[in-house]
Amino acid sequence: MRLVRFETEHEERRLGVEKPDEGVVVDLETVGAELDVGLPDRMSALLAEPRWRDRLDLLVAHAGDTGVGERDRDAVQLLAPVGSPGKVVCVGLNYVEHVEEGGQERPENPVLFSKFPTAITGPESDVAWDPELTEEVDYEVELALVVGERARRVDPADATDHLAGYTVANDVSARDLQFADDQWVRGKSLDTFCPLGPAIVTPEEIGDPEDCSMWTDLNGERLQDSTTGNLIFGIDELVSFCSDAFTLEPGDVILTGTPPGVGAFRDPPVYLEDGDEVTVGVEGIGELTNYCRYD
Ligand code: MG
Repeated sequence: MRLVRFETEHEERRLGVEKPDEGVVVDLETVGAELDVGLPDRMSALLAEPRWRDRLDLLVAHAGDTGVGERDRDAVQLLAPVGSPGKVVCVGLNYVEHVEEGGQERPENPVLFSKFPTAITGPESDVAWDPELTEEVDYEVELALVVGERARRVDPADATDHLAGYTVANDVSARDLQFADDQWVRGKSLDTFCPLGPAIVTPEEIGDPEDCSMWTDLNGERLQDSTTGNLIFGIDELVSFCSDAFTLEPGDVILTGTPPGVGAFRDPPVYLEDGDEVTVGVEGIGELTNYCRYD
C-alpha cells in the first residue's frame, strides 16, 4: 500500500492511498464518509490508530468497486506524506564511501542528529534559501523510515514491526553552516530543507528495503547512484539504537544516511543554485523532485 497526503483543488489537505497502476489516489475522507468510517486527518494520528490497515483496505476496496473517492493522480498535488512528525531523526556517516569521501572515520555507533520538523516539504515544491545566509547548499538522497507503532527499547529482531513503511528524503544541507558549527542542526534545518515523499510504502510492498537502488539527479545529471545495500548500520539496528535512547512515536521519521556523490566532496564542488531541479529516488518508492529558489 502507498499512503499519501495530497491537496485538493480547494486547498484541502487529505490523506489518501495511491494506486499508481490505475493513476488514482483514493481520497480516504470521501470514501470514509460514504461508509461512515471515521479516520484522523493527520498521518501520524492515522498511524497511531489500532488496525488502521484493516480500515484502509476496506475503504480502498469500496473505492475500487464504486469509484467513490477515486481521484485522478495527475489532478492532485502530493504533499509530504507526514507533515508534522514529532521528530525527524537523521543518521550521519552511514555509507562507507560517503564516510571516506568526507575524510571521516567509520563510526562505531550510529551518528544521530536531527532536522526540525518545520523543515519538511513535499514533492514538486520549492527548496528555498537566502543566498546571503548560505552559499553551499547540497543534496543527499536517503531512505527514510516512518514509525508506525510506538517503539521503546526494542530488540533489532522486532524493530521493523514498529515501522509503518518507507519513503524518500532529501537531506538538504547548508554545508557552510553545518561545518561552521560544532553540531549540524542549523545547517540541516532551514525551512524546506527536508523534502519527503512521494508516498509511504508499506513493508510488504517494498520487499527488501536494504536492497533498493537510490539516486540523485541534478538538472538531469546523475550525481548519486548507489543502493541501500551499502548501509553500514541497517534498519533493524538503527530503530533499536534510537529506541534505547528515546521513544519513537507513530509518524516519527528516521533518515538513514546518504551514499557517496554529494556535492560538497566533488571536485570541483557542486552546490545547488536558484533554478536548479533536484530529484532523489529510491527503487520501489519513487522519485521526489524539488525546485531550488533563492528566497
Ligand atoms: Mg544525511
